[in-house]
Amino acid sequence: MCACGDIVGNPGGDLAALAETLGPSTMSTAQIQHFINGQRTRVSSARTQDVFNPATGAVTGRVMLGSRSDVDAAVAAAKAAFPAWADTPPIRRARVLFKFLELLNHHKDNLAEMITREHGKVFTDAQGEVSRGIDIVEFACGIPQLLKGDFTDQVSTGIDNWTFRQPLGVVAGITPFNFPVMVPMWMFPLAIAAGNTFVLKPSPIDPSTSLLVADLLKQAGLPDGVFNVVHGDKEAVDALLDHPDVKAVSFVGSTPIANYIYETGARHGKRVQALGGAKNHMVVMPDADLDQAVDALIGSAYGSAGERCMAISVAVLVGDVGDKIVPRLAERAKTLKIKNGMELDAEMGPIVTRQALDRIESYIALGVEEGAKLVVDGRGAKVPGHEGGFFTGGTLFDQVKPSMRIYSDEIFGPVLSCVRVKDLAEA
Ligand code: NAD
Repeated sequence: MCACGDIVGNPGGDLAALAETLGPSTMSTAQIQHFINGQRTRVSSARTQDVFNPATGAVTGRVMLGSRSDVDAAVAAAKAAFPAWADTPPIRRARVLFKFLELLNHHKDNLAEMITREHGKVFTDAQGEVSRGIDIVEFACGIPQLLKGDFTDQVSTGIDNWTFRQPLGVVAGITPFNFPVMVPMWMFPLAIAAGNTFVLKPSPIDPSTSLLVADLLKQAGLPDGVFNVVHGDKEAVDALLDHPDVKAVSFVGSTPIANYIYETGARHGKRVQALGGAKNHMVVMPDADLDQAVDALIGSAYGSAGERCMAISVAVLVGDVGDKIVPRLAERAKTLKIKNGMELDAEMGPIVTRQALDRIESYIALGVEEGAKLVVDGRGAKVPGHEGGFFTGGTLFDQVKPSMRIYSDEIFGPVLSCVRVKDLAEA
């Protein structure tokens, strides 16, 4: 494994095989293309966005930002593939997924390395992400059983009732930057196992893993057009949301965009599920096991640099536990090993983009203005040899009040706010 910025290390083993799988488009600063009807394709995208390695700040690729006509091409391919795929018996669809599962296990570390190099999270965390995605593929392999219907004898006099499950058609997934492998895998394995065809619109911040996944699905024998990737931003999303041939949309991302997706998709008659952001609290009682509480808070507040929807960003400290736990949290926050996530002993990697880093650090300034006590200030953290990287340290606030914006807003960075309360009822 290597600590430098470009893709040269290969903890999974076979770099030549990886290069062959990825092709030139994801291995260098070349354009990261769409994947439509079984092919990488440029289609008509004129707009592009730089993709960075956040540990070095270097541009590692340029992703196409799909236009309406790119979305039309992907949806048309998915629509054309739908009848034959929907007619394929579930057991045969499951066989493709079993093969995909085998390939995923083989390329697990390749995917994890790609995640670390575009997202920044530490390599072991990225491996964990891929494993959680694999869990869903394993579940989807059980589709012949999962698709079984029910039969009710005599639901009323002389009337029996039976239910069965049918695919909808073309369905779409719109996914966030923070789990570029796992969150799409919450969606497409089950969608395609059930006989739907799929268009994925991943985050343009870390788009490359979606192409390796597309290649692995193709190698597994998935017919062309069943799984497509259109990169992009609002323009591609809007084209999916009002497309008459898209029957359902699954979204994961921030709450304002989740609201927009839900309202817009529903207005266009689609089934929509939209999962938003979070501000998770952990209540620490006076009789808590402090070692366990400190470990849990450090892991969940600063793991993946706080860029997890399930990160704990607020510790609610009951009674006198605050005076005991805050110094211990401070000690750990100050000594976090902040490094390029490809380094074996890294505990926290960089923030995903320069803009996200600036936003997080401006929230720290706001917390100070609002009157919270800044116990550990992570701003300006430097990582030797990675001066261009988007790093900040772990930040700890105490005496945070619910009226403050650092309490109410999702900061989505390594910032833990401690709130003091007198008892469980107040917590
Ligand atoms: P985001 O909302 O900025 O982006 C999510 C997706 O929406 C991306 O594909 C993006 O390209 C697209 N998008 C962004 N702006 C858009 C716009 N104006 N119109 C249409 N589409 C738009 O989210 P993010 O920053 O990529 O991800 C982090 C967020 O996701 C956090 O809020 C986190 O809590 C949340 N999240 C939630 C869960 C969950 O299970 N609830 C899981 C992971 C992440």
